[in-house]
Amino acid sequence: MKIKEYVTGKSWVLGLLGNPVAHSVSPQIHNTLSALLGIDAVYVPFKVDKGMLGKAVDGLKVCSVSGFNATIPFKEEILQYVDELDESVKTAGAANTVKNHNGRLTAFNTDGEGFSRAFEVQMGAGFKGRSAVLLGGGGTARTLAVAMAARGLGRLTLVNRTVAKVQDIAQMVSKHYSCPVKTMALEEWVKADASEPWDILVNTTSVGMHPHVEETPVGESFRFRPGQWVYDVIYNPARTRLLRQAEEAGCKTANGMGMLLYQAVLAYEIWMGIKVSEEVVDKLFEEFANYLQK
Ligand code: NAP
Repeated sequence: MKIKEYVTGKSWVLGLLGNPVAHSVSPQIHNTLSALLGIDAVYVPFKVDKGMLGKAVDGLKVCSVSGFNATIPFKEEILQYVDELDESVKTAGAANTVKNHNGRLTAFNTDGEGFSRAFEVQMGAGFKGRSAVLLGGGGTARTLAVAMAARGLGRLTLVNRTVAKVQDIAQMVSKHYSCPVKTMALEEWVKADASEPWDILVNTTSVGMHPHVEETPVGESFRFRPGQWVYDVIYNPARTRLLRQAEEAGCKTANGMGMLLYQAVLAYEIWMGIKVSEEVVDKLFEEFANYLQK
């Protein structure tokens, strides 16, 4: 696509509501997808101040923006400003994608499905019957707990610095799914690790994210075992300290770039009403290979 043709009067306009947005990779991902698919669309980041989300949403609606993503800190608050909630939003209670259909807004959550697809592709298998430990108690932990339980996870341990936050998630998972769930404080779980075997560890805490690249949520003396799978939703840096610890012990590891790419593809499909082919997904992964773990 030539530069002068990049944005036209007929372009679909898409966007991202968040704060901060300056470091988001989403504009690059969505604009790359449009280029790969030859679709005349442009995706723009909008930094929205606290207390202004309602006005921002109204603005996008009256400007006939086709759809937008909501990111930190708006994934829960956005639900107040839409007309309809997709099933994907109801259990997790958070949305990352909104579609504008003639002024009627529907909220979707593509993070859970994006994580599950990425996990299967990056690890080579899914959650069915396995035991998992989920570190963190924020919005991402809630969404991923639902995604794993809904896909037949065998056992789930929710671990967080503030244990009260995961007790609430455990109750919600137990209410909707048959997967047995227990909760533990992070410090207690790290100490007790040798007594509790697990197959999958997913980190959704922000510990280890740039610029604090030498920090790890499990501490330096934690003992991983060969054959365990460790997924870090962080993708900057591409190899967190946690992933390096796990690799050194012979674990299979993956970072969160695959999740970011898949949730974007799913959002794009919702906005455009199309199916993105595996061939295009492969090309997208190639374009962002430098963010994926080496
Ligand atoms: P959040 O709601 O702010 O939750 C952050 C979590 O990190 C909380 O559980 C918090 O524990 C924990 N934490 C923070 N500092 C800690 C420390 N020093 N020691 C131990 N625990 C600590 O954030 P979120 O929205 O769930 O996002 C979490 C992470 O996921 C972020 O890194 C985000 O970039 C990433 N993410 C990635 C993708 C992707 O597509 N790859 C998508 C969404 C999010 P407390 O509860 O005790 O405070």
